[in-house]
Amino acid sequence: MSSDTMRAAVKTGAETADIVDVPRPVPGRLEALVRVHACAICASDLRGWASPDIGDRDRGGWNASRPGLTGHELSGVIEAVGDGVTGTRIGESVWIDPICGCEQCPACAAKRYSLCPDAGAICGGYAEYVTTPAHMALPIPHGVSMNVASMISDMMGTPMGATRRASIETGETVAVWGLGPVGLGLVQGARIDGAATIVGVDLHANRRTLAIELGATHVVDPAAENPVAAVRALTDGRGADVVLHSVAAAEASRQAFDALRLEGRMVTVAGFPPAGGQMPKTVIGNWACYHADFPEYVDLLTDGAFRLDPYVTHTYPMADIVEAFHVRLHRPDESLKVIVEMV
Ligand SMILES: [Zn+2]
Ligand SMILES: [Zn+2]
Repeated sequence: MSSDTMRAAVKTGAETADIVDVPRPVPGRLEALVRVHACAICASDLRGWASPDIGDRDRGGWNASRPGLTGHELSGVIEAVGDGVTGTRIGESVWIDPICGCEQCPACAAKRYSLCPDAGAICGGYAEYVTTPAHMALPIPHGVSMNVASMISDMMGTPMGATRRASIETGETVAVWGLGPVGLGLVQGARIDGAATIVGVDLHANRRTLAIELGATHVVDPAAENPVAAVRALTDGRGADVVLHSVAAAEASRQAFDALRLEGRMVTVAGFPPAGGQMPKTVIGNWACYHADFPEYVDLLTDGAFRLDPYVTHTYPMADIVEAFHVRLHRPDESLKVIVEMV
């Protein structure tokens, strides 16, 4: 392989990809070239992976057929920089906040890129190299591994951003619908923000067990008992003050809405189909988080208040990316966070 090329995953159909040689990207002005160490599989990667569609489908150029696929939970080492970036950053270990904006609008000026009308995502991470605006590549804190660092942006940023939109007050009761990696982050965010009672709802025993370890006070298996009744039983029949919702399924969405008390607040990171009700309850959408808030979130990680290390159940080399996606998509009872290592 010459220095002009790199190995990258390219999608070839539903749930399959090849590893091929493609041109290595060259950092442009204000960009950095990052040698990828880890790319963690996100639930948002799975939608494109399972689809036979290999076209450009979504906001931010979310194109599952591009070299490196939609990989966006990234860590690595800066290997080269473009014009306008100090060469002293070469060799720096970094994680990437993938949600970037136009750098011209008021939202971008406040480092709230997720509010930019032209927000997009840095992706292509299932490859040996990616380019990124250099200021979106942030130093990995001392003591944080490459694999954990790859999860900072989306697995801590997204649930913390969503939790903050709920404005949880000390002592409130919070129900968390779905205990995948984002849902477990919502449990941790609720605990950090002062919830007294945290009820986690998920079909999978492994995820309920981890939710208890990370701060849930109660867990419910919705296949074994009615989760709405369980939440009401814990709240004198009123329902939860706050529901944090991370399950993209209509029945779960309806249950989550029903478990919310009147004038309660629900934040969803999974979208929200019509709930069929006219109840006076507030539903707030959330996408990603504010870049400006990451220093506080990273402190939560290095303090041990927010944990990402127990999420990693599997790691695979790039050559086994098809198996990695298979385990993440089809074995939710044993996999949580699956990381593809590019080195
Ligand atoms: Zn993601
Ligand atoms: Zn902007």
